Amino acid sequence: MHTEKAQEVKADFEERLKGLAELTDAAQKSAQFIAYLKTAAKFHKYSASNIWLILFQKPTASRVAGYNRWKELKRQVRKGEHGIAILAPCGFASHHTETDEETGKERKVYGNANRFRVVSVFDIEQTEGEPLPASLQWRTEERNAKIHTALIELAKENGYSYREQDGMREEAHVNYKVREIVSRPNAGTSALIHEAAHMLLHEGRYGMGSEQKETEAEATAFIVCEHFEIETNAPNYLAHWSSPEQIKESGQRIIKCASQLIDACEQ
Ligand SMILES: [Zn+2]
Repeated sequence: MHTEKAQEVKADFEERLKGLAELTDAAQKSAQFIAYLKTAAKFHKYSASNIWLILFQKPTASRVAGYNRWKELKRQVRKGEHGIAILAPCGFASHHTETDEETGKERKVYGNANRFRVVSVFDIEQTEGEPLPASLQWRTEERNAKIHTALIELAKENGYSYREQDGMREEAHVNYKVREIVSRPNAGTSALIHEAAHMLLHEGRYGMGSEQKETEAEATAFIVCEHFEIETNAPNYLAHWSSPEQIKESGQRIIKCASQLIDACEQ
């Protein structure tokens, strides 16, 4: 029952990704990409696919949770509201016993990672009740000291040193060979996030084109900056997707990296 519904959601999702990949209007494609990154900034704990699912079904969603989670938060989902269907892997926690046909021995079979079930979540707009506690205010001046420190710490943990240097051509850069991030003394936080993304994603990636590397670092920085309400420019390029696989793969890398950076800064 559940898995049938999950298949339906998946099929619909693949169809929509295909539609995105086939968009020939570059500006429209870019607009979709920015919308995706903005959604990711709000839901960085969700998988890359679920972020697409939320965006497809409720582009205005700002905070989502399951029915019971809203109840815990003393809010009630309004009658008649339709949930946003996302996919959760299932079968990991359970196993069943099967007899091996060749040996006749019994063995434990764990759930297949490719099996999913549908989980419904609701946006805060679909609920009513007590106000939520105010979220942390991150908006600060261009250079956010706390985030800067956290990123330098993360670099260290990854074996990278950090130093500042006057008179550089670009705001900041990463050197994979000597494993260091160098920035101008006045470089903004978004520049440092961009280099930290390169550090996490691109060391040893000789086969990857520089355009893709820049796209991924920019997109990651955009999500992290949006999340912390740091002023930044929308990624300055046109999305160059050509296949649903590419959208998925690139999305996963960007979301995973952004999530790692956000977690490091929120510790
Ligand atoms: Zn770069």
